[in-house]
Amino acid sequence: MTEQTKIAVMGISGRMGQMLLRAVDEAPKASLIGATEHPGHAWIGQDLGEAMGMAPRGIIVQDAPLEALQHAHALLDFTTPEATMANAEIAAQVRAAHVIGTTGLSEENLAFLEAASRHAPIIRSGNFSLGVNLLTVLTRKIAAALDEDFDIEVVEMHHRHKVDAPSGTALMLGEAAAGGRGRDLSEIRDLAREGITGERQAGHIGFAALRGGDVVGEHEVIFAGAGERISLKHIASDRMLFARGALKAALWGHGQKPGQYSMLDVLGMQA
Ligand code: NAP
Repeated sequence: MTEQTKIAVMGISGRMGQMLLRAVDEAPKASLIGATEHPGHAWIGQDLGEAMGMAPRGIIVQDAPLEALQHAHALLDFTTPEATMANAEIAAQVRAAHVIGTTGLSEENLAFLEAASRHAPIIRSGNFSLGVNLLTVLTRKIAAALDEDFDIEVVEMHHRHKVDAPSGTALMLGEAAAGGRGRDLSEIRDLAREGITGERQAGHIGFAALRGGDVVGEHEVIFAGAGERISLKHIASDRMLFARGALKAALWGHGQKPGQYSMLDVLGMQA
């Protein structure tokens, strides 16, 4: 019999936390062994099942990542940048595969993760769906094929509760487009426009973020030329898509060498 992958879910009461729990419970090769929440959260110290109004599960919700992670092979982390940094420190200590869906990470956060990935595998993606990862591959190819006469714009829409913009996925798509053109996104991105901006600069990649309602996530990459326009669009209608992808990443990551990986590595789609 193959070894079960022991998983901890961080931020278990969150929108994604609850989906991740469902994904782990559905998977025959994974079992939940730990869970965390924000210090001060009503579920801390309670049995997870009872906190959710269900039968006891024998897992106490912790506020300290070490308590939840000490026996874990992998952790699923869709929380906040601050929580993800604290989780990365402990994951590196216990050598657990850290699957990170948290978005809005700063350059400083990314440098911290780079250091942590010397001790344990980190699989980080702005989007864990198969469709979006395929979209990044297509975006890179089309950007490489078209010259700067085609302006690239990335448009995204998410639910009203999202706290960061542009979305992690929009940035992933922007990076794919910039990579296709052999450029660094940080040098050519227009993250927002307001007032008298002047004409659009050739070769730049623009972003627009819409927020409202309960939209799970929609992303469109537009290549706008003279007299024609190409548009690639992905619509996510169920958060379970991300949860199942993240779990796949955890099963893949268990036993990988330390280092930084993306969902493209998990899917075997790395260019
Ligand atoms: P959410 O509902 O606010 O969930 C975040 C959870 O983390 C909350 O339950 C929060 O608790 C908890 N948390 C905060 N600090 C913590 C700490 N120190 N220790 C443990 N738990 C802590 O948000 P969401 O919609 O699930 O999204 C979470 C993140 O995932 C966001 O960055 C979002 O952009 C990202 N996301 C990524 C993907 C992807 O495929 N990569 C897909 C969807 C979402 P409190 O409520 O008590 O603060």
